[in-house]
Amino acid sequence: MGDTPQKVIEVKNVRKIYRMGNEKIYAVDDVSFDIYEGEFCCLLGTSGSGKSTLLNLMAGIEKLTSGQILIKGRPIHKLNETKLARFRQKYLGFVFQSYNLIGTMTALENVELPLVFKRVPKKKRRAMAKEMLEKVGLKNRLKHKPKEMSGGQQQRVGIARAFVAKPSIVFADEPTGNLDTKTTMEVMELIREIAHDNNQTIVMVTHDRSLAQYADRVIHILDGKVQSIDVVNHNMEDDEPEITETKKEETNVEEENDGTVGSVDDDNSAN
Ligand code: ADP
Ligand code: MG
Repeated sequence: MGDTPQKVIEVKNVRKIYRMGNEKIYAVDDVSFDIYEGEFCCLLGTSGSGKSTLLNLMAGIEKLTSGQILIKGRPIHKLNETKLARFRQKYLGFVFQSYNLIGTMTALENVELPLVFKRVPKKKRRAMAKEMLEKVGLKNRLKHKPKEMSGGQQQRVGIARAFVAKPSIVFADEPTGNLDTKTTMEVMELIREIAHDNNQTIVMVTHDRSLAQYADRVIHILDGKVQSIDVVNHNMEDDEPEITETKKEETNVEEENDGTVGSVDDDNSAN
């Protein structure tokens, strides 16, 4: 991170209310925080706390009910669909829990896809995708299709795809939700390392407290509200980073078994 951290995302008094018949669901309820350039920010909370909704609002995938969201100073809630699509292509990358790779395409083709949309010439995009796949440790899997790879390998392709166009911000919703512990650690290290090398900002949503140690800052979400914000001290001498409370004390919330109950974040379109 630079000396004076720049705000890349500003969330101001944001609400998202879903109407289900007569019932109003305050999925995101008057939330405000900033995310800084180059930081790894984790939104942590149990299932149904509103994390995915919040992420989707920041990514311009969902429309907010009230409030403001600025990315790089631009009020993205005011952009029309065309401008929003262009904005996403230019600045944002995404990693999904279910990988969302195209099943009929090879690893290489999947990673090339964002560059196709950006109209990068074929030779150049092929070279960029190859380099990215090499970086995630898959240089021997270029021609493999998603179903010919393990979950961890598929998510590495997902990461390569998210980062290949060098977006300034990468959003990740439960990126390790389908992976075992060892693979989870590898994938988290990879995301951290690539983002750090290029001063990219990561916004990751998870219900898994153990992942907070990979972040620079943890925003605790409960019932659609920000409960507290922690700064993580990455002390080189310790194995376990220390988490410092910077706001009010967090209440004890029960751990959940997985990320699927009551969550609507999974996009199952791609396969
Ligand atoms: P999380 O990602 O933390 O599990 P979500 O953001 O998916 O939580 O959901 C927050 C709340 O909003 C939940 O109560 C959920 O049921 C509700 N919700 C999410 N999406 C919708 C929707 N499209 N329509 C109605 N309610 C929704
Ligand atoms: Mg979710």
